[in-house]
Amino acid sequence: MDFTPACPPGVGSGLRDLSPLKAENTGPGSTEVRKVLESPNFGATPQAVRDLERGVVDQRLVAALRSLTKGHRICVQTFKEGHYFLPGVSDGPRIPEGYGKAGGLPNTHYFGRAADVWWVDGKPVEGNATAPGILEVGKILASIPPERRPDQIIGPPRWTKALGYRRPRGWVLASDQLELHRDHIHIGYMDESGSGKD
Ligand SMILES: [Zn+2]
Repeated sequence: MDFTPACPPGVGSGLRDLSPLKAENTGPGSTEVRKVLESPNFGATPQAVRDLERGVVDQRLVAALRSLTKGHRICVQTFKEGHYFLPGVSDGPRIPEGYGKAGGLPNTHYFGRAADVWWVDGKPVEGNATAPGILEVGKILASIPPERRPDQIIGPPRWTKALGYRRPRGWVLASDQLELHRDHIHIGYMDESGSGKD
């Protein structure tokens, strides 16, 4: 067994002491959240852990992370809290103008429907876009049944090209977006209908 934490030192933790889930957080998603947080293959920054514990992360996204952590170490940098498209510009419900051609579109991070993964199997995504484990993450996402599959998957140009998936599988192929994701994989849900929040 490899007990190396999913996140690099100083970023977050993999094997962690968990704070008890808050009393209001006993909805249907809380068991799945707990399972993700308890997986030794899952790591997250403190801000990302807080989002999970507060229940702001979409249940489909939690399930997708569970699928990924069955065979890979995954470190999530951000869900909602602490996410910025542009330095010094607070996130809101819409992507700010100036963030490529996506400016003005709904911001899935703001709604708890997106995760940014910066490390897989202990490797930074940046510079390792075609490492087997990082490609495998894409293949696992593509294998999720359509009704639960992320529909906003964005990663580095070489990762996207090597995998060869297209829009119907959830991949975003706009070249300006790939350039903005050279250092992380964005796993998001634009479709809010299955979010199970109401
Ligand atoms: Zn993102």
